[in-house]
Amino acid sequence: ENLDPRARAFVERRARLLGPAYRLFYSNPVEFSRANGVFLYDSDGNEYLDAYNNVVSVGHCHPHVNAAIAKQMEVMCTHTRYMQDGILDFAETLLDTFETEIGHVMFTCTGSEANDLALRMAKHHTGNQGIIVTSEAYHGNSELTAGFSPSMGENSPLGTWVRLVPAPDTYRVETQNMGEWLAARVSEQIHDLHRRGQGLAAFVADSLFTSDGIFPQDPGVLKPALDLVRDAGGLFVADEVQCGFARTGTHMWGYQHHDVVPDIVSLGKPMGNGYPVAGIAVRPEVAERFGHDTRYFNTFGGNTVAMAAAKATLEVIQDENLQENCDHVGRIMLDGLRDIATRHESIGDVRGTGLYMGVEMVQDRATKTPDSRSALSLVNELREQRILISATSFNANVLKIRPHLTFDKGHADRFLTGFEKALKAVS
Ligand code: PMP
Repeated sequence: ENLDPRARAFVERRARLLGPAYRLFYSNPVEFSRANGVFLYDSDGNEYLDAYNNVVSVGHCHPHVNAAIAKQMEVMCTHTRYMQDGILDFAETLLDTFETEIGHVMFTCTGSEANDLALRMAKHHTGNQGIIVTSEAYHGNSELTAGFSPSMGENSPLGTWVRLVPAPDTYRVETQNMGEWLAARVSEQIHDLHRRGQGLAAFVADSLFTSDGIFPQDPGVLKPALDLVRDAGGLFVADEVQCGFARTGTHMWGYQHHDVVPDIVSLGKPMGNGYPVAGIAVRPEVAERFGHDTRYFNTFGGNTVAMAAAKATLEVIQDENLQENCDHVGRIMLDGLRDIATRHESIGDVRGTGLYMGVEMVQDRATKTPDSRSALSLVNELREQRILISATSFNANVLKIRPHLTFDKGHADRFLTGFEKALKAVS
């Protein structure tokens, strides 16, 4: 490949030291040296508009979060086995964002650990083994969670206790009733799990179906499937690692777009604005037996600094009205993208909620044939124009756009102008 000498040397050194499992973004990889708000800067000082990095969700290097982390680090950082008010104060604030049925929170360091704990608990509580997930879901990198992450591909084996259902794809599935459509598929898999004596422990879903292709749904789409799940003795685990913490605009949690209350909610990515903090929120009756029969300790999970980071991040979301901002600017972006789509046949569909948007690239609108190549070219072209996004779905033909919750109209306009310019450049 035609990498410049600096990039080539970096890539070779990286392979030598880190081995082959890591991947870099872009055919022309980019190196950043600092960041601020919605921008990243390369070593030459060039500014990149970040419409991708949802971990630092309230903006890169947010001063309130950074100050809270630094201050706590100077005082003390220790684990959950001593009396500390910080963890309880944050637990209280966090629980206030959920329905009253959800009464406990537990802390981990990563989303994978959160889903791992959620699944151990679901299996323990139900006495069943089976898990149902959507066919391109990603739920984590541990042995257990990779085992129910089909998006890892065919060389990453799924557990024998895992069953797949297609995501409710609003672009390709033709049905008058998506709720019944999904429920019928879930029902088949529940029967299969029963036939094999595994039973259903949980249906695990990201309510925005982000790795399946980003499919925001009408209210009520999950309900019929979840009724079947509960009738079968299974739990509903809402994986909010991507769609939680106000990103979907109208609600704090993605599942709240539906008329359902999960048994367990897994949290992660944006929770500490870059500081590793994650966890689960759970109904007390689900945590009960697990807590009695066994115990949970996570060396770094819930540590003093993690709690300070998470508390400060949630304060920023609430004090700066970022959920409302996300809803408002999200609508501007979605309208803008839909307007651009009227001029570009290669865009098959534009969908999203809040500041999580998908733009599906197709070879032609009639056949809806996925166009992975033009999605990839666009991601690379946008990088040349100093705008960061990525792509998702089985064919990687759905552009994944998820800017910081602090994006304003000016940022949205700059994004939309750059996006259309990139579309013209690649077509
Ligand atoms: N669930 C979802 C929906 C995710 O997107 C991810 C991370 N991409 C995870 C779980 C795992 O989180 P982590 O990488 O923090 O372990």
